[in-house]
Amino acid sequence: MRLEGKVALVSGGARGLGAADALLFAREGAKVVIGDVLEVEGREVEAQISGTGGDVLFLRLDVTSEADWQRAIEATVGHFGKLDILVNNAGLGRDGKGVEETTEDWWDRILEVNVKGVFLGTKYAIPEMRKAGGGSIINISSIMGLVGSARNTSYDASKGAVRLFTKSAAIQYGREGIRVNSVHPGFTDTPGTAPGFGTNLERRAALTGATPLGRIATPEDIAYGVLFLASDESSFMTGSELVIDGVPPSD
Ligand code: NAD
Repeated sequence: MRLEGKVALVSGGARGLGAADALLFAREGAKVVIGDVLEVEGREVEAQISGTGGDVLFLRLDVTSEADWQRAIEATVGHFGKLDILVNNAGLGRDGKGVEETTEDWWDRILEVNVKGVFLGTKYAIPEMRKAGGGSIINISSIMGLVGSARNTSYDASKGAVRLFTKSAAIQYGREGIRVNSVHPGFTDTPGTAPGFGTNLERRAALTGATPLGRIATPEDIAYGVLFLASDESSFMTGSELVIDGVPPSD
């Protein structure tokens, strides 16, 4: 019960890494709000948690919309009384495109979801965390936010921005007991990565062969790191980067 008494909102919690965070948080005693654009999948995770006696709420949340964020934070506090933890997890994945192949529209879209989404979530969570006397914000960047890749121009740029945004917010709000950290996962099996390496057996074998641990991450491998940052066990960590990659960032 490492999160007993805490209220957490996980963006992009309907599947993949976000769903693993929501499920683990609930098992550890948190009241969990799942915000996502995928309603069917989001309701399934909601049912899974409530089926095991957890306190949970699914909300439709498009992280690029300021009005959606305002409604989501209001609903969280209305339903569960406060907000202690925000996981800014919703994001679009790698597209394998170099600088010249990247269209302006895709560049704008990926930065809107991956960077503006994190900014807006943080902006509207801060006042509630201040009222609660502190809080923990975990921004899901990527190993690609620390090192560049051969392709994935817009993705790398977006995840690098999340890393530095995290440090900026950490410095601004540390005195109020609000911690802000980034997590940098490596290749992880999720619905979002299925086309890239989840179901591409040749690519998968190459990545598995290149990793010292001999496998690709599961969503739970990452969720346990997120749990640590969400809990009071990480009370002296802010502006930090938790790398959970296990594989070399080759592509
Ligand atoms: P996924 O595609 O399986 O899940 C992403 C979730 O975010 C989905 O439920 C989706 O509906 C939601 N989402 C997308 N746009 C949204 C929006 N505008 N508003 C609200 N929700 C939205 O992907 P995943 O692999 O679970 O990735 C989760 C996060 O982890 C992303 O930020 C991703 O960049 C990051 N990440 C993933 C990996 C990996 O290998 N899986 C590695 C490093 C970082």
